[in-house]
Formats: sequence, C-alpha cells, structure tokens
Amino acid sequence: MKVMKFGGTSVGKPERMKHIASLLQKEQETSVVVLSALSGTTNALVEIGNAIARGDRHTAQQSINNLQEHYNAFLKELFTKETALAKAQAIVDEHFEFLNIILKISFSEALSKDILAQGELLSTKIFSVYLEEQGESYALLPALEFMSIDENEEPQIGSIRIKLTQLLAQHADKKILVTQGYICRNARGEVDNLKRGGSDYSASLIAAAISASVCEIWTDIDGMHNNDPRVVGTTRPVEQLSFEEAAELAYFGAKILHPASIWPAQQYKIPVKLLNTMDPEARGTLITQEPSGAGVKAVAAKDHIYAIRIKSSRMLLAYGFLRKVFEVFEKYKTSIDMITTSEVAVSLTIDNADHLEQIVKELEVLGTVTVDTDQTIVSVVGYRINETEEIIKKLFGSIRNVPIRMVSYGGSQHNISLLVGADEKVHLLKQLNKGMFGLD
Ligand code: ASP
Ligand code: MG
Repeated sequence: MKVMKFGGTSVGKPERMKHIASLLQKEQETSVVVLSALSGTTNALVEIGNAIARGDRHTAQQSINNLQEHYNAFLKELFTKETALAKAQAIVDEHFEFLNIILKISFSEALSKDILAQGELLSTKIFSVYLEEQGESYALLPALEFMSIDENEEPQIGSIRIKLTQLLAQHADKKILVTQGYICRNARGEVDNLKRGGSDYSASLIAAAISASVCEIWTDIDGMHNNDPRVVGTTRPVEQLSFEEAAELAYFGAKILHPASIWPAQQYKIPVKLLNTMDPEARGTLITQEPSGAGVKAVAAKDHIYAIRIKSSRMLLAYGFLRKVFEVFEKYKTSIDMITTSEVAVSLTIDNADHLEQIVKELEVLGTVTVDTDQTIVSVVGYRINETEEIIKKLFGSIRNVPIRMVSYGGSQHNISLLVGADEKVHLLKQLNKGMFGLD
C-alpha cells in the first residue's frame, strides 16, 4: 500500500482533479490518497475566520459568498452527469450552510479550527463524488476519525495506526482510499489542524502508521531543485537526498516538503518521492535513509529572519551566560535557528517575532542588544560538506561583494548557513548557482 498526497494546485482546477483521477487509474498498488484543500481555499478561510473574530460579519459574509461561487463554478466544470453534479452540489451547499451558521454564533478558537477544516472536507468529498462518477472503486476515510494530536500538539502515531488499520480493514476491497490532509482532532476531541501546509505532514504520518511502501508527494514541479527557480535562471532537479539533507533543506526554505513531515518517514523508514502531476514520468526526487554521496546537493533561502546580537563584557571568561540567553527564548517558546559566538557577544537568529519586544527587553538585562530585521538565511546543503575542503573553498570563492552577517558552520555535517540582508539574497543565490553548480 502506498500514500499519494496531492497539494492545493494539484486539485485546484477541475481539469487537474480529473488528471489526478486518471493518474490513480493507472496505479497497481492500493493507494491512500491525501488531498489538500483547493488552492486559495485555506487562505480564504483564514480571512473569513479573522473577519468573524474582529466582528466584521459583513466582510466575512462577502468572502463566504465569493468562495461559494468559486465552488459552484468548479462543480459545473468537473461533472458531466446530472446526478453526480446534484450530489456534489448538495455537499457543497451543506458546508457553506455551516459557514453561514458560524457567522451567527460567537467566535471562539475552536470555531476557527472548524472553519479551517472546511477546505479539506470539501476537496475530498468533491473528489470522491468524481471518482464515483468515473466508476472507481474507492472509499473516503474521514481524517477526523483517525488523525489525532496530544496536549503538546504532537501526533499520536500509535493511536493513528490502530484506528487507521481498523478503517482500512473495513474497506479491504477498495483500491483508492481518499482522506483529508491537514485536519485532525486535538486532545480535547475538537477539530484541529497540523498547521499551514500540514497536508505533507498528514501524508507522512499516514505512511508511517501503515508502513507504506512509499510516500509520494505530488506537486507541480519535478522534484526538489538545486536552487530557487524563481530567483536564478537555471536549476535542475536533485535526484536523491537523504532524510538529513532533506530536513535541512525543508527547514531552511526549500519549497519541498513541510519540515515536520520528514521525521515520521525517517523514523519509520518510508521512502519519500517528490513527483510532478504535470509530468508523471519525470524522475522527481527520492528521499531515503542513505545519501547518494558526498557533495553539495542544493541551496535554499529562508526569508523574514531577525538577527539579534547580545554584547556584554560580563560574558568575558564567564560561564552560564548562554544559558541565561537561551532561557529567555525558551520562556517565549521562540526557537533559534542560527547562532554564533565570540568572547563578548552572541548573535542568533529567529523567524518568529511574536514576542520580539519582550525578548529584547529581557535580553537587555544581560547586555547591549541590537536587532537586524529583514535578514535571509542562505543554506548550502549536502552530505558531509563540512569535511570537504574543496567545497568550502568553492563556496567562499563563489561569493563576491555580498556582506555576510553570520556564518554557521559545523553545527551539522550537512549544512553551511550564511546570513545576509534580504536585499543581498538574489546576488548570493546567483553567485552560488554559478560557483557551486556551474549554472546561470
Ligand atoms: N490546506 C492547508 C494549507 O493551505 C494544508 C495544505 O495545503 O497542506 O495550509
Ligand atoms: Mg503544500
């Protein structure tokens, strides 16, 4: 059994949805098909939730109406048979009726999660009716019946496995098992989610829970590329990556996989494939336990980074200083990405500025604090690159006239990270593309 996950753009247009059904038709293996919401839907639902939260029911109502029109048009284009169209229309109407009811009741956090869940509920139900229209052997497995997180918002793999195995046993004769990405139940039994972009995470958790042969992530690009195609002229797909390399790339900004989705596949040894719905024959990227060899695989950039420097003469010859610094970040549940130290100063980066003001205030007790906003981390990732002198020479030899604010080297064997001002990112990515990969 395998897992196939299709993202928002892969289901976002009626012809793409039809295309997925035809891809599934060619499959030999039984597949658990994990779907995202149609592209744009979750953003729209976030806005609806925000509008309701601030009491702006008028805007919320308008957004609901617009979204509903979008779905109505979608259905008309998707279905040919009247009966199927009527069935799908009834489902869509029911979900929008729910949204319209929510408009009238007082807002709560739990309710906002219910709103967000509508996207995946709609996409999977619409797709199911389409499969039915096509005469496919399928079943819809409600994610809310098996996908769960605990009090710390950690997925409960053991319980997911038990419940999913039971559900699968009920549909042992079916070849296609459709389910929702992203949504789950929390420790209070309420509808919740795995955070934005979480459908990849769902897919990887499901693959781990059922010991799938492979977890396929289908998008609209032929795998992970060596650099950002939106920034540099030429890129090429990376054929193979280890989980460790993939984790570094995913975390440091490659549009590859939700970073959280690496660990379940890695821990349960499920190979992950990144494939292209528009070009299903393309090799894509295979992610497995073992790296394909030493050398640089790709560079990635992570934007909207804050660099914080704490300078203190009290750090000189003292111990325990870093602990005090880290405690401040721990208190505000803010994770640190990069860190470098000298004898009298520590520089570190964060990407979550929700508590920046309080953090700075508390750090000021320890020393002089400066904050640089709008920074970018550029990471160079590859197996054991820090042990290869040639690579390091090549890396720094590639860079010209780009002021580097921080360098993180040796933290992992597979990553060298550079921090630059956001306005230097394009230069740096281009220079690295040329210097490290010989591409424009
Ligand atoms: N629909 C959700 C989102 O847009 C989850 C996903 O697509 O992965 O964040
Ligand atoms: Mg996604």
